[in-house]
Amino acid sequence: MNDYALVNKEFFRALEAGELIGSKCLDCGEFSIPQREICPFCHSTNIEVVTFSGKGKLVAYTVISVPPVKMAQAGYDSKNPYCVGIVELAEGPRISAQILEMDLAHPEAIAIGTELVMTTIQREEDGVQKAYLAFKPA
Ligand SMILES: [Zn+2]
Repeated sequence: MNDYALVNKEFFRALEAGELIGSKCLDCGEFSIPQREICPFCHSTNIEVVTFSGKGKLVAYTVISVPPVKMAQAGYDSKNPYCVGIVELAEGPRISAQILEMDLAHPEAIAIGTELVMTTIQREEDGVQKAYLAFKPA
């Protein structure tokens, strides 16, 4: 389980099932996402895999109209921008993800603190359809 690719695979397998997984340290109680084998807070190895509630709030965002190649291939461009945000989960850890259903014509109206709930967005990457983590207003 030291293998980052394996953790990544488990994370995406859970996402396909609509679940957001990470880890919880049984010594200090802190959560991590993606899951860790060693607690980044107290270095304990007394860890369990947990499923997050999927609820969180927006703490930062950016609207991207000049996307990287993979997102351009998915159909995003200056006429079809997308929003990426940092979401603080109800359990504490923060994760970056695409934020859906925002008014991208008026990005200044997107409010920090907006309550969000996890969802997934299907995107083709290298010819493979895959579910990616996303959030939308709760
Ligand atoms: Zn810990």
